[in-house]
Amino acid sequence: RLITFEGGEGAGKSTQVGRLADRLRAANLDVVVTREPGGTPGAESIRRLLVEGAADRWSAATELMLINAARMEHVERLLAPAIHRGAWVICDRFVDSTRVYQGLVGGVGIDLIDRLHSDFLGLPWPDLTILLDLDARAGLDRRHQEGGGSRFEAKGENFHEQVREGFLTLAASEPDRIIVVDAEPAAAAVESEIANVVTGRLGH
Ligand code: C5P
Repeated sequence: RLITFEGGEGAGKSTQVGRLADRLRAANLDVVVTREPGGTPGAESIRRLLVEGAADRWSAATELMLINAARMEHVERLLAPAIHRGAWVICDRFVDSTRVYQGLVGGVGIDLIDRLHSDFLGLPWPDLTILLDLDARAGLDRRHQEGGGSRFEAKGENFHEQVREGFLTLAASEPDRIIVVDAEPAAAAVESEIANVVTGRLGH
């Protein structure tokens, strides 16, 4: 099984990934938690190229290539073997982030990204994607309270609003795979909403 979490800055993805993992482990499932860009040492070094430096360091097309290099490495070494042995893999960001950040907002387009993912690289699609949806301003405020994050936060509210709209567009086009969860309520409430979705869809 592959479950991915998506959403903008400060939506609480890493918190909810951890809570879902704890719940599934309590049910004695083999659970692997990972993230993108990154997840293996090689992919994490590509991540550092992506998240450090000036906001306009790379073009969207260059970012796409770096992200896919990181993803190939991550899938080959960690994700695919884990799925193959029957583990439940929970990944903090995956292909839908690429489709939104580089595809829709960056202007590369979704078709190229999807074809690269499926036809050229033969990468897996998630069984279920949880989209944590939060107002862009609220997300940025949460991140600032946490003490900041990556260079992408410097891109301004308009950028983050486009990211939010992009994710909602994807969810509307694949309502069976991408489930929108309101990230505004307290973490415990979001957690139980996600638990209901996962149980309903995947039986645990
Ligand atoms: O969610 P997390 O903070 O780990 O993401 C790292 C940063 O990389 C975020 O600021 C996100 O906007 C950015 N990113 C990106 N394109 C992707 C994936 C992540 O610009 N495909």
